Amino acid sequence: MELFCDLSIAARYKSKGQIARVLSEAWWAANGYCLVCTSDSLKQSKANTRCTDFICSGCKHSYELKALRRWPAAKVSDGAYAAMMSRIHEGTTPSLLLLERSENWHIRSLTAIHSTFLTPIAIEKRKPLSGNAVRAGWTGCNILLDKIGQDGQIPVIQEGAFLPKEEVRQRFRMFMPLAEKSAEERGWTALTLTVLRGLGKPSFLLKDVYEKEQIFSNSYPQNRHIRDKIRQQLQVLRDMKIIRFDGRGHYSFL
Ligand SMILES: [Zn+2]
Repeated sequence: MELFCDLSIAARYKSKGQIARVLSEAWWAANGYCLVCTSDSLKQSKANTRCTDFICSGCKHSYELKALRRWPAAKVSDGAYAAMMSRIHEGTTPSLLLLERSENWHIRSLTAIHSTFLTPIAIEKRKPLSGNAVRAGWTGCNILLDKIGQDGQIPVIQEGAFLPKEEVRQRFRMFMPLAEKSAEERGWTALTLTVLRGLGKPSFLLKDVYEKEQIFSNSYPQNRHIRDKIRQQLQVLRDMKIIRFDGRGHYSFL
């Protein structure tokens, strides 16, 4: 597997966006693999000037590849807000592959944002384009990575080296059961997991989580049963074998 892009294939392109798309898609088409199943073959499904989509020929999981110059980032800009929200509600959002590259196109890192963690609370609506722009009125979105949390950001390449494929797939597959759930439920699970990780310890108490109730209320101001939802989400995370119930309000990460 190679960690640099062949610059010659983009020689006939002028625009920076097109060059980035052509180089990154050729590199991932040659070196990429499916994070869900055992397939090492991904097909390019469609291309436009902003990003390229890939689909696994085996399990049909879809991916959107984006090349970035700065990583880590607090937020990543993506396509149209309305389209993103409807894909989230339909459960058809692709997983994002965020590729960090150097000036001369060496790949420094690749981080997969798990599709199940793309939920309404992680999407920020941008200001509509203004003025005389051809696309005036068009409204894009940002993906808020702090709302996704560390569990939803799975490293594939780190510090210029591929991580073992099976380890990456194991981490990625752990969250596939969430794909069956509604966008609202997935949002709760992702937020609960982020809050639990934020406690910064391997074991915790139910009251530790209740003390963070305000974080949940901020994201779900309409909900009047936050504590019930927290307990329900702890059960979801137990069923996914991410945490263990130790009894009497004690929990541990597995
Ligand atoms: Zn697959």
